[in-house]
Amino acid sequence: MVKELMENSLDAGANRVEVSVSGGGFESVTVADDGCGMEEEDLRLAFERYATSKIACREDLGAISTLGFRGEALAAIAAVADVTVLTRTAEDDVGLRGTVKQGRVAVRREGAPRGTTVTVRRLFADVPARRKFAGAAAAEYRRVADVFKRICLSAPLPAFKLTKDGKLQYTARAGATRRERVGEVIGWQYLEEVGYAEASEGDCKLTAFFSSPRVSFAGTANIYTIINGRPARAKPVFKAVMSAYDLRLDRGRYPLAVIYLDLPPDAVDVNVHPRKEEVRLADEEAVAAFVRRALAEGLGRAAVTVPNAAFAAEAPVPPPPPVVVTNGIREAVEGYLKRTGLWPQRPAHSSPAGRVEEVTPPPVPPAGDVAVLGQLDATYIIVKKGEELVVIDQHTAHERVIYDSLASRPAAVQELLLPLSFSLPPALADDLTAGLPALRDAGFDIAEFGPQTFVVRSVPNGARIGDWEGFFSEVASNLRRAGGERSAPGAAREAVLKTIACHGAVKAGEVLTAEEMASLVRDLWATPTPEVCPHGRPTMVRLETKQLERLFRR
Ligand code: ADP
Ligand code: MG
Repeated sequence: MVKELMENSLDAGANRVEVSVSGGGFESVTVADDGCGMEEEDLRLAFERYATSKIACREDLGAISTLGFRGEALAAIAAVADVTVLTRTAEDDVGLRGTVKQGRVAVRREGAPRGTTVTVRRLFADVPARRKFAGAAAAEYRRVADVFKRICLSAPLPAFKLTKDGKLQYTARAGATRRERVGEVIGWQYLEEVGYAEASEGDCKLTAFFSSPRVSFAGTANIYTIINGRPARAKPVFKAVMSAYDLRLDRGRYPLAVIYLDLPPDAVDVNVHPRKEEVRLADEEAVAAFVRRALAEGLGRAAVTVPNAAFAAEAPVPPPPPVVVTNGIREAVEGYLKRTGLWPQRPAHSSPAGRVEEVTPPPVPPAGDVAVLGQLDATYIIVKKGEELVVIDQHTAHERVIYDSLASRPAAVQELLLPLSFSLPPALADDLTAGLPALRDAGFDIAEFGPQTFVVRSVPNGARIGDWEGFFSEVASNLRRAGGERSAPGAAREAVLKTIACHGAVKAGEVLTAEEMASLVRDLWATPTPEVCPHGRPTMVRLETKQLERLFRR
């Protein structure tokens, strides 16, 4: 419904489109524009189709964002809600108010700003089942926001606003470039990590903004495709985007990507989906290959070697600081041991919560052709591997090691000698309660213990948790994120393991001993995907001697 109303505003040539929803849209939806407005005859006609129109499915409660049918959106909406239209054309001095209440249309003259404001109230109000959907409003608002963002991205010229329960959520200014629009809608903070590609081939044109593999998400919500100026999904394009990222992203991780595709009109069939959300492409394979090539090339350029490499062309990268390789300092070891438990041949040690029974060390693979040269800036491990110089990020590398060791075996459990209890704020407690099965699956013996209080009796082997409230708050919010997007099975367990990995991993700024570095590096290469951390960030940057030769112009 929001989609149809916003599209009507754009069809009316609006320079400004303002959307407000309350109660997720179940209470009211208003879309106001400064477009061409309607004459009395148009207004009546827009509603009168109601008599013959299909009535929208009343069971479809999650439909605020999309409800409506081609060519009869207003009539269809009026069939299931109270609708008011306030409108004035540039030629008229006085505007019109049209109201449809339980099927009756009334039009009267009334002062109005130029343009059209459509207000929809009491959607499905006569459906008793609606009461059951207590959580529906929040979910429905998220869908409204998604549709809103997709339309904003598709149309950079008009100004947009989205208000939720009286609070401004998004603004996008008029006359933006695509790049500015992406920044406004996606968030400027992400734009730092976003690459840009432009390509054309025959009659196909592509403009793409895409994240480096450092930025990835648990769902597909941040992949936007705009085909011939309209937000539209096309499976082959989606697959092409994913295949351009290939192994750079972990399984279950998705990039941020805004893909503008301009194709000849006869190459796109928009009539395969009742709401035109999905389109069919005439030559799917050619378009997919084009998108994949353009993006893969863009990603290659936006290589993962330098932060902000995506903007290397715009902002010159400063020369790297001189390399100072320092050796580990013994004194730091003790503190370090307390936070990590996965180093081989480590004896059991106590956690703040109580004594841990036993730690089984993971198998130690052969060292191979890897030599640790030292640590840089207490953050990076410098390694020679065969003919390559490899710089490893100690935190992401350790995350990968911990995550794989937890994920690869059935959860071995450490029993706490004393059960431990902790409390969380209500919202987080709810998320944690919802995630209890996933936590148990990951090896926690955890149960509710009074309001917002939980008791833990055992933790997965290898988990190092110092700050329990902090850890479980993080688990709760990661669980919400993993479940918020249409989550794959196992997503909750994955979210739990990632949090354990992130919490237990050595941080940047910690000085490591030579032994610790050697064992981390060995464990890292024993994992099946050593090059990315569980969140999809790179763990290492490699420099081949060939590249060195080129750099030194040998
Ligand atoms: P369609 O957009 O397919 O014609 P709708 O039911 O969405 O069908 O709209 C019916 C008609 O109402 C439109 O054709 C247009 O003339 C008019 N209309 C709807 N919304 C607006 C608007 N925001 N500004 C001007 N005219 C509008
Ligand atoms: Mg329409």
